[in-house]
Amino acid sequence: MIVMKFGGSSIANADRIRDMAEIVKKHVPRKPVLTLSAMGDTTDHLLDAAYAAINTGSSSIDEIQELHLETIAALGLDVENEITPLLEELKNLLIGVSMIKELTKKTQDYLMSFGERLSTRIAAAYFRAVSVNAKALDAWDAGFLSDDNYSSAWILKESWEMIPRKLNPLVKAGVLPVVTGFIAKTTRNTITTLGRGGSDLTATVIAAACGAEEAQVWKDVDGILTADPRIVPEAKPLEAVTYEEAAELAYYGAQVLHPRSMQPCVKTSTPVLVKNSYNARSPGTRIVASLEKPAPVRAITSRKNVTLVDIVSTRMVGQAGFLEQVFSTFAKHDVSIDMVATSEVSISVTVDATYDLSGLREDMLKIAQVHIKTGKAIVTIIGDVERSSEILNRTFSVCAAAGVQAQMLSQGASKVNISFIVNDAQSDEAVRRIHREFFGAS
Ligand code: ASP
Ligand code: MG
Repeated sequence: MIVMKFGGSSIANADRIRDMAEIVKKHVPRKPVLTLSAMGDTTDHLLDAAYAAINTGSSSIDEIQELHLETIAALGLDVENEITPLLEELKNLLIGVSMIKELTKKTQDYLMSFGERLSTRIAAAYFRAVSVNAKALDAWDAGFLSDDNYSSAWILKESWEMIPRKLNPLVKAGVLPVVTGFIAKTTRNTITTLGRGGSDLTATVIAAACGAEEAQVWKDVDGILTADPRIVPEAKPLEAVTYEEAAELAYYGAQVLHPRSMQPCVKTSTPVLVKNSYNARSPGTRIVASLEKPAPVRAITSRKNVTLVDIVSTRMVGQAGFLEQVFSTFAKHDVSIDMVATSEVSISVTVDATYDLSGLREDMLKIAQVHIKTGKAIVTIIGDVERSSEILNRTFSVCAAAGVQAQMLSQGASKVNISFIVNDAQSDEAVRRIHREFFGAS
């Protein structure tokens, strides 16, 4: 058995659904379980509708409704009886939101669940129309239970037994299960989501729980690339990366995969294959536990809009407990730290620029001097940290030649991530230069 996941752009309209079905049909002998995102940008449109309801007191789902009904018509399907009730439920929910003028995380998850519930029903109906015995399943009917951490829920342990119990009999009976990505339910029966891009996680959880041969994640790019092609046009797809490298890449800006999606497959060593649904012949990127030939540098990514906080202690030099006080101040203000570098008297951390740091600054000033510097970017090199001297030497000489100042270096406990800070305005140039240094001009 294998798991196949298709993202929003891979099922954005009737033609894309036909292409997706062609790809799936070729894999039928390998007994696929399918999991899907919402069609196109439906999840964003659902959120837009909710904000309109709050801000203007009314909203329309015309665009969402049209996309789904036109797709059904174009595919010649007879599923209105499954789709119309969902659209009605969605309209009623939005009326509710427009009256209460407030959107809790819980309601937002319920609202965002409609995209996947619609897309899976349409896709399953299309498969049946082309003689594949498919069945649409909401994640909770496929065994997905989560905690109630709305907007970023965690799958509960029970799911690991329930998912195969629900899906294996279907697969054995020759049915193609089409499972909603991205969503789950709590034990109290409320709908949750796994975070934006969460259908990757749905796919890897199913693959790991069912002992699948592999999880295929079909996207609109040729796999995981050596850099973001918008910054580095000559970036190339990688043949293979490790789970650890993929997880670091997902976190630091290369938004190919959901950051948590590697975790389930690490446990079971299930390979994950990232493929391009627009270019099925391209081999894609294989994500595995370990690779025989570690490259010095596998990929380069960057994350912009980062704020650097320098905390300099005068009084507490050498005193135990300083770091603890610093970190607990961040925790108190609910500010999540990305990178850390320390010296005997100072500590530098980076945080997302979206945080309001005024309260934190005030508290921190009680124990140290604080300098907040905005407009920074994190440049991350994914590679073999055991060769960090060589990597840093080459990286910093190309940066120096380009007049790019590297400000804070952190190697972390991970064996694959070397990160440093540059000014936002220089980060693209830095990434391009480092890429050219390690991968050549084209
Ligand atoms: N539809 C959801 C999103 O856009 C989940 C996903 O695409 O994986 O975030
Ligand atoms: Mg999506």
